[in-house]
Amino acid sequence: MKSLCVLGATGSVGLNTLQVVQSQPHQFRVVAITAHSNVSGMLDLCRLHKPDFAVMSAGDAALKLEQAVQAEALPTKILSGEQGLIEVASLPQVDAVMAAIVGAAGLLPTLAAAKAGKQVLLANKEALVMAGALFTQAVEEHAATLLPIDSEHNAIFQCLPKGQVRSLTQSGIKRILLTASGGPFRETPLSQLATVTPQQACNHPNWDMGEKISVDSATMMNKGLEVIEACFLFHATLEQVEVVVHPQSVIHSMVEYIDGSVLAQLGSPDMRVPIAHALAWPERIHSGAPFLDLLKVGQLDFMPMDEIRFPCVQLARDAFIAGGTATAILNAANEVAVAAFLEERLPFSCIPAVVEASLSTMEILPANNLELVLAADQEARAVANEHIVNRQ
Ligand code: NAD
Ligand code: MG
Repeated sequence: MKSLCVLGATGSVGLNTLQVVQSQPHQFRVVAITAHSNVSGMLDLCRLHKPDFAVMSAGDAALKLEQAVQAEALPTKILSGEQGLIEVASLPQVDAVMAAIVGAAGLLPTLAAAKAGKQVLLANKEALVMAGALFTQAVEEHAATLLPIDSEHNAIFQCLPKGQVRSLTQSGIKRILLTASGGPFRETPLSQLATVTPQQACNHPNWDMGEKISVDSATMMNKGLEVIEACFLFHATLEQVEVVVHPQSVIHSMVEYIDGSVLAQLGSPDMRVPIAHALAWPERIHSGAPFLDLLKVGQLDFMPMDEIRFPCVQLARDAFIAGGTATAILNAANEVAVAAFLEERLPFSCIPAVVEASLSTMEILPANNLELVLAADQEARAVANEHIVNRQ
């Protein structure tokens, strides 16, 4: 029986995780769940999973959940704030932590799980983008296990040799082919991108996801973040990670070996597949996702990415090359720009410009410690906001 902590339990990945868990009641026990402010969603999950702990990172929400849990005499202890998140991510009785908080808010709890030597099921790519070197160092030092949940990285993980050594080259690998659907605006006339709505941006052709990652998919900043994620996870160089547009989202990524073999992982575009893979690893369990019907899919298409339409991927590559705090700045400015777009304070087409302006305004420092990363994150938020407010 594996004991789990699910960070971001009320979100898209969190709920998918709990669905897989619910279908395998003899294999998993939910010890702790967390959410930001969704009290009714958490109350439902407390009733269903009877976790030992539930954390609301917003203090007033914690109070409300506590009252509701007491009124129903549920066995769950309620904690609050970032300290509560860190506490449950490092509980001694927890084996695996699903890191599914969205954005920079996930960094400290996810890092705490790594420092506690847990199996870290990593959906929260932003944590790795912000502090990849510190994060992978913590994983190594504390003998934690990192299992990727992002569908592309989970696919790559499945196609890599078991226990991949330090570099791709040493493992006989030429490159990684990171697939991308191209999002909802792959073919939208460029002139219309200034006026697309949050609802259009969140309407992904293949995946049903949270709002932030949906907008990132529409700008393809998501693919930029994933390029960085792949470099940190698999000890790859930027040149070894090639983005290939594949609109059907059936091949979730590929690994090309030096002998010319290309291994791919395929499946329905359903997050329960990579989630079930990581939950059961190295075994296999049912995920509940529909099986892939290739005859129904019929055709798999591939095309190069349009770098002019999607400047965010190059912004991410450039930040990775700059190193240090640049990727934390990229991430923070993007989070602020996406939030402004969702609140209709910034046109969709201005998201890359806000990120670029923030990166060029700020000094990039070595990311030697967490304090420097968190300071860069905070400053980039202020700088990005200023660019949004002062926009002509
Ligand atoms: P979501 O918006 O649906 O859920 C986010 C979760 O995080 C919620 O439980 C929310 O309560 C919690 N949260 C939000 N802000 C918080 C804060 N400030 N402090 C603490 N908790 C907070 O997001 P999602 O789509 O499930 O994505 C979660 C992560 O997984 C993201 O990093 C995303 O990039 C990654 N991911 C998601 C998918 C997907 O299919 N949704 C696929 C690949 C990767
Ligand atoms: Mg992905």
